[in-house]
Amino acid sequence: MSLENPVFDCKQCGECCKGFGGTYVSSEDIHAIARFTGLSETVFRESCCQEAARGPVLAVDEENRCIFQKDHICSIHPVKPRMCREWPFIPAVLRQPGNWQLMGDACPGIIQKAPAQAVYNQTLASLQKTRPGFRPEQAIAPADVSDNRPLFPA
Ligand code: SF4
Ligand code: SF4
Repeated sequence: MSLENPVFDCKQCGECCKGFGGTYVSSEDIHAIARFTGLSETVFRESCCQEAARGPVLAVDEENRCIFQKDHICSIHPVKPRMCREWPFIPAVLRQPGNWQLMGDACPGIIQKAPAQAVYNQTLASLQKTRPGFRPEQAIAPADVSDNRPLFPA
């Protein structure tokens, strides 16, 4: 994060882990989390995932929180899905800068008044770390379901 133009300061509130359908898991995510939890991929999908419109998502508990959130902390942090690792620096921010403000309505760590250029630059830099070789034009055409994350869990 740039000290001159901070755009994000996570408050550790755990609100981003709430809501059904918010966390899609790719086949790579499923493989990594199943291995981490000691489950077979089949059992993991049956017991820890639910089907959403675009594929499997992590299941939520009776309080509508991701089942892997324990005491406001992610219990699978080393292998959490890519969309969790990337938040809030996601392709949707490059596609439509106004999404930053929308996301900020639900995520208190997002600095909504941050300069748009700083948000763009830091989002691109973050994506290039999580996705080596990532180019801005790839944000226009999502490559896989993980890019289709809703702007924020309901
Ligand atoms: S995997 Fe971890 S970071 Fe992602 S929604 Fe679940 S608890 Fe939150
Ligand atoms: S909702 Fe935003 S501020 Fe809260 S834990 Fe998630 S990323 Fe951090």
